[in-house]
Amino acid sequence: MAPYILVVEDEDALATLLQYNLEKDGYRVALAGDGEEALVTVDEKLPDLIVLDWMLPKVSGIEVCRRLRGRAETRNVPIVMLTARGEETDRVRGLDTGADDYIVKPFSTTELSARIRAVLRRIRPGLADDRIRQGDIVIDRVAHRVKRGGREVHLGPTEFRLLDYLMQHPGRVFSREQLLDAVWGSDVYVEARTVDVHIGRLRKALNVDDEADPIRTVRSAGYALDIEA
Ligand code: CA
Repeated sequence: MAPYILVVEDEDALATLLQYNLEKDGYRVALAGDGEEALVTVDEKLPDLIVLDWMLPKVSGIEVCRRLRGRAETRNVPIVMLTARGEETDRVRGLDTGADDYIVKPFSTTELSARIRAVLRRIRPGLADDRIRQGDIVIDRVAHRVKRGGREVHLGPTEFRLLDYLMQHPGRVFSREQLLDAVWGSDVYVEARTVDVHIGRLRKALNVDDEADPIRTVRSAGYALDIEA
């Protein structure tokens, strides 16, 4: 699954340019033109990263940042702030805005791409890399292969995406609805118990002989991937 980036920018031309370039880099992109729209869009689907302009109509970038940092669900979303030269740059740099990085306008799209990759790698290592390892499980996204303890694990495409998603967030419990949204997509109608079927298949493929089951079922809550270090 390509990382999902929300770009919050009120200058249409810049927003369109950023969307074009980020999509070319392989990201999925949503746009919001002001702070209010940004907060609504974040509530609809949690982005993997937010590119946030400092000066925005309705709710300012700094206020959006403050509100996102104040809520448990959005506290850890990486934020890259955009500022104009001279425009509050010292405050962005000096104050605790809660942003993970900032970039001063005008900037090149290459520079922004590099910053985004760096932030993702630092905060969500699973998203920026072609390979992720958790415990004895390794996913190779380029070759589309999974290994457990050196043994090849054969997975269907849905089980592959499910494992990939769980491995990006080890230890975190996801509801069936959250998994449906992340793995199947929010525009697809699938029953929640479909998740149980695919978790069952994933377990069957991953766990042979006496291997410990890395997937934890949390009663009436959902599933989590637990990997001992
Ligand atoms: Ca602006």
